[in-house]
Amino acid sequence: MPTDSRYAILFEPVKIGPKTAKNRFYQVPHCNGGGYRDPSAVAEMRRTKAEGGWGVIFTEQTEIHPTSEITPFIEQHLWEDKDIPALAAMAEAMKSGGALAGIQLAYSGINGPNLYSREVPLAVTGGPILTFTSDPVQARTMDREDIRDLRRWFRNAFRRSQTAGFDLICLYGAHGFGILQHFLSRATNHRTDEYGGSLENRARFLREIVEEAREETRGELAISLRLSLHEGGAFGFSNAELRDFIEMHGELPDIWDLAHGTWEACSGTSRFKPEGAQEDLVAGIKALTPKPVVGVGRFTSADAMVRQIRAGVLDFIGAARPSIADPFLPKKIEEGRFEDIRECIGCNICVSGDMTGGISRCTQNTAFMEEWRKGWHPERARPKGPSGSVLVVGAGPAGLEAALQAGRRGYAVTLAEATTVLGGRVAKERTLPGLAAWGRVADYRTGQMAPMTNVEIYRDSSLSADDVLAMGAEHVAIATGASWRRDAVARLHLHPIPTDAAMPVYSPDDLMAGIGPTGGRVMLYDDDHFYMGSVMAEVLAARGCQVDFVTPAAKVAEWAENTLEQAIIMRRLLEIGVRVHLSKAPEAIGPKEVTLGCTWTGAASALAADAVVMVTSRLPHDALYHDLRARQAEWADAGVKSVQLIGDAAAPGPIAWATYAGRRFAEELDTTDDRGDTPRFRREVAGLEPGPSRLP
Ligand code: ADP
Ligand code: SF4
Repeated sequence: MPTDSRYAILFEPVKIGPKTAKNRFYQVPHCNGGGYRDPSAVAEMRRTKAEGGWGVIFTEQTEIHPTSEITPFIEQHLWEDKDIPALAAMAEAMKSGGALAGIQLAYSGINGPNLYSREVPLAVTGGPILTFTSDPVQARTMDREDIRDLRRWFRNAFRRSQTAGFDLICLYGAHGFGILQHFLSRATNHRTDEYGGSLENRARFLREIVEEAREETRGELAISLRLSLHEGGAFGFSNAELRDFIEMHGELPDIWDLAHGTWEACSGTSRFKPEGAQEDLVAGIKALTPKPVVGVGRFTSADAMVRQIRAGVLDFIGAARPSIADPFLPKKIEEGRFEDIRECIGCNICVSGDMTGGISRCTQNTAFMEEWRKGWHPERARPKGPSGSVLVVGAGPAGLEAALQAGRRGYAVTLAEATTVLGGRVAKERTLPGLAAWGRVADYRTGQMAPMTNVEIYRDSSLSADDVLAMGAEHVAIATGASWRRDAVARLHLHPIPTDAAMPVYSPDDLMAGIGPTGGRVMLYDDDHFYMGSVMAEVLAARGCQVDFVTPAAKVAEWAENTLEQAIIMRRLLEIGVRVHLSKAPEAIGPKEVTLGCTWTGAASALAADAVVMVTSRLPHDALYHDLRARQAEWADAGVKSVQLIGDAAAPGPIAWATYAGRRFAEELDTTDDRGDTPRFRREVAGLEPGPSRLP
């Protein structure tokens, strides 16, 4: 039971059909960019959640059959018995801390292009595959025999899930990704047979497979239905229809897992969606069913969680991102260690790992997906090596994480920061519209270091090479950051463009410092393609400027597709009156106008402007590092063994790259460095299939 009785309700056991969850903390299925490619990494990641006290832990999307897969996205496969061991290892890891182990079974239908399996996609109603990438593939409409096949394939997956040791099966029908939703929704179900038309008919397939799941697992496993709370559009499965469906089928699953319509709507970033944003859509549903309800909402506040339970909105607190940022969230609430909670900042960098086919990382939890690959742990630090002292120069995300992790390992750490404020770039970016939650990157780390007697923090201390050598720390991290360029150099222009000195040109650093235009026409050039261009446009619009947003890309903020924000950013820009110029770039900047070139034809056009803001690329602050390298002969006398350049000072990138660099510096102190001759992480190599190299 928790130390604070106000939160006792969160730690009550709750029945889910034949199973009982030990508490109300429910890690809903979430992708991680590792999936079938990195089975041990994924299993170990889930183990940390088991250790952290979650009552229910789920896999990511598990594809049940090769006729439906979503390559290039890397999820799980349960296509044949040989897929069982990897999933069994994950189930074992989940159950190691007393959690119920859940598997999310998915058949993607109209959402799966089958780029790997090359099978013809099967859908409730055929048509072009609905993916982020507009794959030039169509699905065939399933006939009755196909539907019988699909039910059998689901049965096979139910049996294999039970063999693998799972307690719960989640049937996926949310986010537009699962065939259950495609059956339910009139947008994707145009059938005229007994599986189409009335809601009763559209629900037939769900009724059949839930019954078959029970039969196949002898009623021993709990069944969850993960459905969309609200699908938009004229024909979408609306919130009203969902409520009708639940009223008609209140007893169908053992638990209702409700998530917003599209993934973009469900996993909104903190810039656009507050905590608990789905409450209106889920409120009142519990009264329609005797079965428990789980919902999500980027919950990190224990009070918000208790309120949702007490108000009868939810029975379980569903979490994906809060469980990534802090796998120990339940345990910390239980032990009353609220100040130790590493709150999700809602940046969706974790999502980008799945979207890019890389491996997910988390801005806040630097150990995420490195638990097995590198042996990093979200809470525990490995004991320190033989050296004693560490100096970290610069207290941005990289420096703060380096100092915290080195401190946790037991080194005597000095952290020196040139300014009065800790946080570096997040100290500035947290003041920008929508980005306040990013300040948690600094707050969590400064809060954790405050009681540590082996970490000393010096503010207003801009260090020179002389200072560093005089301090004589054995290991030095130079985490001095970067600043935005003003000369248009980034991806399109690899050299500066001609610029008339009469035109005022600013960078995001200027605007964040309160400098720059406060009215008039501003040409904003974005060759960065993530969030900063649109945030600067918001700042300028709020200052009364007429903003012309110019980008060489065919979309604004195109990388923000990977954080599910691109469409919302475009909408926001249009709503605030920003004029968007796509596939254009400045070629020359005159005193009163900018010459734009079309990136396809080169055709020139003139754009009148009173000022220019460049959101392009950043220059690393690496002078201190190079000064120290030039004086390497003096290191030994000064007691310095190593100097490393980390974070934005080495290679500017998103905040998550900087916190990762800080962690890596601290983790690799006193390890041997073979300068990259072997990979610095463990990985799994596909096993070769026995048998002839060629099939007859
Ligand atoms: P990162 O994202 O890599 O952590 P930031 O730009 O956020 O980089 O942070 C770098 C920090 O380093 C800033 O707070 C800056 O004030 C500080 N800094 C830069 N140069 C020095 C220096 N010579 N001595 C101490 N601090 C410095
Ligand atoms: Fe939250 Fe960002 Fe971490 Fe994802 S990457 S869990 S959104 S802090």
